[in-house]
Amino acid sequence: MRKICNECDEKALSKNEIGLCKKLLGERSKRLLCIPCLAAFLKVTEERLRSKLEKIREEGCTLFEPK
Ligand SMILES: [Zn+2]
Repeated sequence: MRKICNECDEKALSKNEIGLCKKLLGERSKRLLCIPCLAAFLKVTEERLRSKLEKIREEGCTLFEPK
């Protein structure tokens, strides 16, 4: 089953986006957002979220797709 962004209700979320939500909002957070919505929610730029995502992936976190 595809997970859809809680905010815009239209974007299907990638494993990376879901992982990023868990990482930034907490493992037990029910809120799952796409990158643009997550950026707006956290009041940061999308660019910043994407570079954060890259950094976390480099650390080899299992929540994310391997590089
Ligand atoms: Zn969204």
